[in-house]
Amino acid sequence: MNPEIYILGSSSATPTRERHPSSQILKIGSEKIMIDCGEGTQSQLIKFGIRHTGLDYILISHLHGDHYFGLIGLISTMSLMGRKQVLHIIGPPPLKQILDLQILHSGMTLKFEIIFYPTNPGRQEFVLSNQSFELTSFPLKHRIHCTGFLIRESKKERHINMEAIQQYKIPVASFKGIKRGENFVLPSGEELDNALLTFDPEPCRSYAYCSDTIFDTDIVAYVKGVNTLYHESTYMKNNQERATLYFHSTAEQAATIAKMAKVGHLIIGHFSSRYDHLQPMLEEAREVFPNTDLAEEGEKFMLSVTKEVLVHS
Ligand SMILES: [Zn+2]
Ligand SMILES: [Zn+2]
Repeated sequence: MNPEIYILGSSSATPTRERHPSSQILKIGSEKIMIDCGEGTQSQLIKFGIRHTGLDYILISHLHGDHYFGLIGLISTMSLMGRKQVLHIIGPPPLKQILDLQILHSGMTLKFEIIFYPTNPGRQEFVLSNQSFELTSFPLKHRIHCTGFLIRESKKERHINMEAIQQYKIPVASFKGIKRGENFVLPSGEELDNALLTFDPEPCRSYAYCSDTIFDTDIVAYVKGVNTLYHESTYMKNNQERATLYFHSTAEQAATIAKMAKVGHLIIGHFSSRYDHLQPMLEEAREVFPNTDLAEEGEKFMLSVTKEVLVHS
């Protein structure tokens, strides 16, 4: 199944009548990943019918409240619902202290383990990998410690070429290794190259999340060629000075990063509460990078191989 992004929150700083602070869910392989967890995220999960069971990874970009004030509430609910499985939380180092204090002083008794991975705002860093995905963090320039995240599907198994398998009478017991890319040695001692026995798997898809950041072309190297890029777009270009002052970006700047990085698709979000209507914001971005969409709450985007294929539900 293609990885999918669900938009739960798209507002900057404060909630509005229409929008909630940042949060998204990425479904990838057999895993569900939450990216940022602003206030109201739990209500949004309920509203859009997304269960938190099976949610084992939560990524927090930085400690401005609009990106994590929903986290302790979600942890509390997980505890009350009897969660047992490990929860992996990735975020700035002080987040661990904050959560420990909140858990201690609220008298919460967790029946599950939290494994915490501190992010490094100084450089690009591998965080973790499993059967479904590989996670890397990279620095963003914001007013406080802030990182973006790159999530790539894990390497997939190669497809067996049944015609070749029959031709060389290769036993089923060897399929596992062949799917992993191993060569096969015939009883005669002749070695068959794996390329003779398999077809390429589907390409690994990738998603990059650029949370709050000033316009910064250093980002281009981190997100180069990803299928889908999320980039904050707090303001429009007529507020560019304000964007720079507060270490945020405009729609035009987000689109410029997408264009420079040659990504497949751009999603913009983290809209200032001053904008009731987002169509002009979208048009501003599309002038620079046509395959752009708004991160509208309740929308689902498929990470596509080609930039034309994009599915909303
Ligand atoms: Zn923010
Ligand atoms: Zn921020």
